[in-house]
Amino acid sequence: MSCTCQGCGKQYKVDLVIPDELWEQIKPNGKPVGAGLLCGACIMNRIEKISDYDYWYLRKIPPNKATKPDR
Ligand SMILES: [Zn+2]
Repeated sequence: MSCTCQGCGKQYKVDLVIPDELWEQIKPNGKPVGAGLLCGACIMNRIEKISDYDYWYLRKIPPNKATKPDR
C-alpha cells in the first residue's frame, strides 16, 4: 500500500503521525481540519519553514496499532 503526497505528488509508504496542532500549520492548502496527506519529505520541509532549531522523537507504531490514514 502507498499513498500519494498532496504536496509533491510522489507515492510514499511511510506515514508520519505528527501532533494535530503541528499538522494544522503545515497541511496542504485548502484541506479541512485534520485532513490532507503529505510524505515525510514534505512534512519535514514544511516544519523547517515554520520552525526554529528543533528536534523530534521518531518511533515506530506496531502495525496492529496503526490506523489507516483517512486524511
Ligand atoms: Zn511530498
